[in-house]
Amino acid sequence: MRTRLLPGFTGTPPPDAGGGDPPPAHRPVWVQVDLAAITANAALLAGVAAPAALMAVVKADGYGHGIVPAAQAALRGGATWLGVAMVEEGAALRRAGIDAPVLVLAEPPPAAAAALLEVALTPTVYSPAFVAALETAAADRGAAVGVHLKVDTGMRRVGVPEADWPEAFARLAASRWLHVDGLWSHLAVADERDNPFTHRQAAAFEQAVTGARDHGLRPAVTHLCNSAGTLLHAELHRDLVRCGIALYGCAPAPGVGHPDLQPALAWRARLSLVKRLAAGEAVSYGLRWTAPAPTTVGTVPAGYADGVPRALTNRGQVVHAGRRVPIVGTVCMDQLLVDLGPAGGAPGDPVWLLGGDHGATVSAEDWAAWLDTITYEVVARIGPRVPRVHQEA
Ligand SMILES: *Cc1c(COP(=O)(O)O)cnc(C)c1O
Repeated sequence: MRTRLLPGFTGTPPPDAGGGDPPPAHRPVWVQVDLAAITANAALLAGVAAPAALMAVVKADGYGHGIVPAAQAALRGGATWLGVAMVEEGAALRRAGIDAPVLVLAEPPPAAAAALLEVALTPTVYSPAFVAALETAAADRGAAVGVHLKVDTGMRRVGVPEADWPEAFARLAASRWLHVDGLWSHLAVADERDNPFTHRQAAAFEQAVTGARDHGLRPAVTHLCNSAGTLLHAELHRDLVRCGIALYGCAPAPGVGHPDLQPALAWRARLSLVKRLAAGEAVSYGLRWTAPAPTTVGTVPAGYADGVPRALTNRGQVVHAGRRVPIVGTVCMDQLLVDLGPAGGAPGDPVWLLGGDHGATVSAEDWAAWLDTITYEVVARIGPRVPRVHQEA
């Protein structure tokens, strides 16, 4: 087993985060990432997608899992493309020596065109201003650039709006420096099994493909599906699927998944303090929870600054000693309290904010339900001050 910390974290790496799980030196709060799970999930998704290729989407620090180790694990599992949101993210992959094709999923500002090419990322294009800037940057380098043109088929976020397709196709067909290697779009409701809007988007995309060909463009790859599209809409896989959340073993939406996807992330901590409460004693800011009977509360040294939302006040649960125990009282910036009940516990006891042991677990899906959000937000918002420990095997 190999362990590693995120760049920028200056704590002491734990010697072994496996069975004995000694925590980081100065605060026992850490995220444990099972890279073998990411590799297995990538292999599973590559199999589901085949003959389409798999792009592993590793934006937002690999959805909180660590961008470089997540990308490497996904490539080992059979992903052949990587997807990022920002030039900086793609540059981090290149600095780590990763030479797989990397698609930047949205245009950066035009002024970033040269920086994007400098690190050999594949740009997505859709606006005249960015196309012009990229063309200038490519001409300055004296080398033609392959781009992926994004068309809007109904999401109405980014992409060329349908009314402007002919103009965009003509503009790019005439470009000396930009070659359209890919054509793609994004689905708005892929996670809703029977929503006919997905098929309207697919039909519009088919028209874009035809229109592009009519203008002389020859995109080698066309792509439409995110994780939910990949899992629910096999008929839309085309040449490439772009999977993020499923790669990390989380469900894109309740009931959308695959039984063999494994969650890769566990969020671990150790109790910093344990104390007895008498019936009627209240805890934390605002005294928003009162012990109904004598009990024991434990302090977990993680809070909303780490990505445990304050909205879990009197709401969420953590796993302690093979049982789920409730979060009680207001979640603070750096700490939260749990009701251990009469069984109690001791400082240093392991707790699991996500994941678990002895058969009890708390999942990102649980948090998403408690918080009325999606698993993506749960894992992507685990803060940078929580060290990530990567397990290889
Ligand atoms: C983030 C993103 C994805 C990945 O979505 P998941 O639902 O996490 O699989 C795919 N395509 C685009 C354009 C994205 O921005």
